[in-house]
Amino acid sequence: MLTGKVVLVTGASRGIGSATALLAAENHAHVIINYNRSEDKAVELVDLIRRKGLNASMIKADISSEDDIKAMFRSIKEKHSRLDVLVNNAGIMQNNLLMLTNMELFDRTIAVNLKGTFLCTRYASNMMRKQRSGRIINLSSTIGLNGNAGQTVYSASKAAVVGFTRSAAKELGRYGITVNAIAPGLIKTDLIKDIKPEIREKMLSNIALERIGTPEDVAKVVLFLSSDLGSYVSGEVIVVDGCQMM
Ligand code: NDP
Repeated sequence: MLTGKVVLVTGASRGIGSATALLAAENHAHVIINYNRSEDKAVELVDLIRRKGLNASMIKADISSEDDIKAMFRSIKEKHSRLDVLVNNAGIMQNNLLMLTNMELFDRTIAVNLKGTFLCTRYASNMMRKQRSGRIINLSSTIGLNGNAGQTVYSASKAAVVGFTRSAAKELGRYGITVNAIAPGLIKTDLIKDIKPEIREKMLSNIALERIGTPEDVAKVVLFLSSDLGSYVSGEVIVVDGCQMM
């Protein structure tokens, strides 16, 4: 479905990003795996993809740093001269009650989840505008839509991603670029490993499909939006939560 396409997935060393990159490669894209700290995991993923006879490369960049992002896009331009799909997936979730949330947590969350998405979209859309085509997919969260106690900052960062997505879709549509967001519910990755078992059980009891989502559940929706199947979908937020009752 993605033959000949160049796909950049930020935060692709683990979790949803890793599954997304693998599925894109299996659909014959050249995937660029961005990572920050988990170099070993990124190397493993590139090896796995190449062993399957498919195409992947990796780039280290801290998505909260404009210098790193600039260097990453410079390298993509030099090596591929184009970018067809950007998946703004890199994200962090640190929780605390509002009264206990310090500015360090606030600044770091906004820097990765919002500023990183903004900057990568700006650099990517500059390349895509010239091609007059492109797909941008941003990872939001159901917490950004519904809110949650103890997650004010994470929720705000993910709600901002929705506003950003809808505005960018309106601005970039004339260049043939679609911009969409995906709002996953509870997905089994390292991000949710610290949720207490009793809270996890309670959340599970509210999911109509009676299971926690997998990274692949989200990756399949990214593939839809990246491929020709999603060609007339833009400015949307697709919830992938197994029908979680709030
Ligand atoms: P994980 O914690 O499993 O993985 C996070 C990924 O983001 C890692 O590959 C990590 O790379 C990367 N990352 C973190 N900070 C940076 C940074 N500064 N620069 C570059 N990469 C970075 O998370 P998930 O896979 O669960 O989450 C992926 C996205 O989906 C996030 O945006 C998250 O908010 C969203 N989401 C997840 C949900 C869930 O239940 N899991 C629910 C709703 C939304 P490295 O290790 O190399 O630093």
